[in-house]
Amino acid sequence: MATSIFYNAFKNEIWESLSFEASSISIAYAYFEDHAELSIFAIDGIRVMLLDEHGNLLYQSHPSGENASELTNAEEVIEAYESGTGRATRTSQTFGSETYYYAILLSDGNVLRIGQDAQTLWTILSDSILMIVLSCLVFLMLAIALSIRLTKRIVAPIMEMTRDLEHIQNNVPYKELSPFISAIYSDRLLRSNNEKIRQEFTANVSHELKSPLTSISGYAELIVSGLAKPVDIPNFATKIHTEAGRMITLVEDIIQLSQLDTMRDSFSENASQFEQVNLYSLGQECLDRQMINAKRAFVSLTLSGDDTFINGNHKLLTELFQNLCDNAIRYNKPGGKVFIEVGRNSNNIAYMKVRDTGIGIPEESQSRIFERFYRVDKSHSKETGGTGLGLAIVKHIALVHDGKLHLESEFGKGTEISVTF
Ligand code: ADP
Repeated sequence: MATSIFYNAFKNEIWESLSFEASSISIAYAYFEDHAELSIFAIDGIRVMLLDEHGNLLYQSHPSGENASELTNAEEVIEAYESGTGRATRTSQTFGSETYYYAILLSDGNVLRIGQDAQTLWTILSDSILMIVLSCLVFLMLAIALSIRLTKRIVAPIMEMTRDLEHIQNNVPYKELSPFISAIYSDRLLRSNNEKIRQEFTANVSHELKSPLTSISGYAELIVSGLAKPVDIPNFATKIHTEAGRMITLVEDIIQLSQLDTMRDSFSENASQFEQVNLYSLGQECLDRQMINAKRAFVSLTLSGDDTFINGNHKLLTELFQNLCDNAIRYNKPGGKVFIEVGRNSNNIAYMKVRDTGIGIPEESQSRIFERFYRVDKSHSKETGGTGLGLAIVKHIALVHDGKLHLESEFGKGTEISVTF
C-alpha cells in the first residue's frame, strides 16, 4: 500500500515536472530560429520531439522508433491537437521502466512532445520488497514480544486472584471483570449451598430410613429370638408391615423428588411431554380418592370451579392435588373443612387452590415448609404417615409447570395453598 501511495505521488511529480518543462520550452520556442535549438532541452533523459500540424516530424532529439502514423495517432498528440495538451504513459523499450509523454500545442500550430523514462511500480516494489519484508518482520517480532509481555502483565493479577477462590470477589484486579467475578462467586455460593443441601438431604434420608428399619429389626428380632409371646406376634407383624410401608412411601417420595430434580431445569423439554389437562377433573379425582380419608378424620371435602384446561403432566398434577388435599385433611381438626377450588383468576390465569380450616402453620415456619424434611410438628407428621417430602414434591411439580406457589396461613385457623399456572 505504501509503495503504491508513493508511486502515485511519484507519478504526479513526473507529470508536473513534464508539464512545467513543456510550458518552459513552448515559451522559449517562440524565440528559436531553428528547430534544432530544441536540443538544449534534451538533457537529463528528456526526449524532445516536434511535429507540424499534419503530424510530420520536424525535429527529434532521440530517435523514437515510431513511424509517422504511430506518431500522429499517439494518444497524447491527438489530445494536444484537440485540447492544447495531452499526456500518456507507454511501456518503455528499457526493461522495467515506462515512458511518460507530455504533448503541448504551440502557437504556430506545431506540437511539441517531450518524454521521460521512469521506473514502473513493479520495479520500485521489487527494489524495496526486501526492505518492506524485513521491516514487517522486525515489527512483527516487536509486536509478538510486546504482546507476550503485555499478556503476562495483564494475566498475572488474574492468576493471582484465582489462587484464593474463597475471597475472589475481594481481589478483582480490573473493574471490567466485576460482572464475571460476581457470576463466578454466585456460582460458587450456589454450588456450596447445593452441596450443603445435598449433604443435609443424605443425612436426613439416612435418619428417616433408620428409624423404621430399627423398629422392623427390633420386632423381627423379638419374633426370631422367641422372646415375643405368640399373642403379640400378629401385633408385631402389623408394626413391621406398617414400618415397611412407611419406608416404601419414603423411598417412593425420594425417587419422585430426584426425577423432578432432573426435570426442573428443562421446562421447554418437558413441554413436549405435556398434554391438555382439565384441573377440574383432577380436583374431582382427588375428591373421590380422598373422601374416605376425610370421613375418617371427620373432615368435609368440597370441590368448586369450572372446567379449566392447562398444558401439563397429568400424573404429576394428580400428585400435586393429592399431596395438598392429603395435608389439608391430616393437619385439620375434627369437624373441619377442606375446599378444593379450580378456575381462572381476573387475569385469566389458571389456578388450583386447597383451603382448610385446620391447625394452620406458625408464621416462623411458613417460609420453610416447602423444604425437604421440614415439619412443624415432627411427631404429628409421622403419626399421620407423613414423610416430610410432600410439599417439596408440590414445589417441584409447580416449578416443572412454570407455576407459582402461594401460601396463606394463620396458626390455629387454617391454611390456603394455591398454584397459578
Ligand atoms: P409431611 O409429610 O410432614 O406432611 P409436607 O412436606 O407435606 O410433609 O409438609 C411439611 C410440613 O408442613 C408438615 O409437616 C406440616 O407441619 C406443615 N403443613 C403442610 N400442610 C399443612 C396444612 N395444610 N396445614 C398445616 N400445616 C401444614
